[in-house]
Amino acid sequence: MMGPSHALSGAAVWLSGSWALQHFYDYEQSPLALAVGTAVCSGAALLPDLDLSGKVTRNRGGATVARTFGVFSLFVAEVVEKISLGVYYATKLSRDPRRNNGHRTLTHTIPFTVLVGWGTTTLCASYGKWAVIGILFFMIGLALRGLFDKWAERAGWLIVTLVSAGAASFTAANLPGDRGYPMIGLAVGVGSFVHIIGDMITRAGVPILWPIPIKRRMWTPISLPDRIALRAGGKTEIVFVRTALTVVSVLATLGLVAPSVLQKFNLDI
Ligand SMILES: [Zn+2]
Repeated sequence: MMGPSHALSGAAVWLSGSWALQHFYDYEQSPLALAVGTAVCSGAALLPDLDLSGKVTRNRGGATVARTFGVFSLFVAEVVEKISLGVYYATKLSRDPRRNNGHRTLTHTIPFTVLVGWGTTTLCASYGKWAVIGILFFMIGLALRGLFDKWAERAGWLIVTLVSAGAASFTAANLPGDRGYPMIGLAVGVGSFVHIIGDMITRAGVPILWPIPIKRRMWTPISLPDRIALRAGGKTEIVFVRTALTVVSVLATLGLVAPSVLQKFNLDI
């Protein structure tokens, strides 16, 4: 799956999940909390691809997300890729092939999604609002890069960084004081998980069962059979999948805000 579809699927899952929570369990979120969760989930849906490194010294290559904050995020991607490769070799069994980069290994596993979700929750619980601002800044950058890829490409990383910083500080100024912000960690975990599923349905093998050994392999790539899998970047993905995800997001948003709007309208007449 390509960046925009990943980011859109993160947003669609978060919005429809929030709708379901509100509809079936009366769990209401303020419009700002909802927007924050959606942005974070959408950004986190690109997070696993931060393992695709480029050429840091020449400021080239890497996945689109790796270029979000210019050479800084390229450097992060380089580190993540090397750590992933290290974990691959540390846990590989005799039938796992040799490889020379860590793309689609550690960051495309369930333990990774749990780890980043838990890590985010812990950060928010220990540092409160300041952690939230930092995480928001980073995730909004990724989400912008994913959702508005053409604009981000034209605007360049400096503008993307400035817009993310602006959005994060606006949110910080308007978010209620010191709380645990448990939903942010959940949004990061869910977003990363949605990414892995997205890769799986587009023929890309993902080691989703890691660390369960199967036939002397620890990193068995799992994907849909070619017959039913989508082609990454193909017409079906770009036209059908993106339209469907947009429709789901819009419907969920309407479902979330319509009741309160209708209520206001009724009170007015
Ligand atoms: Zn991926």
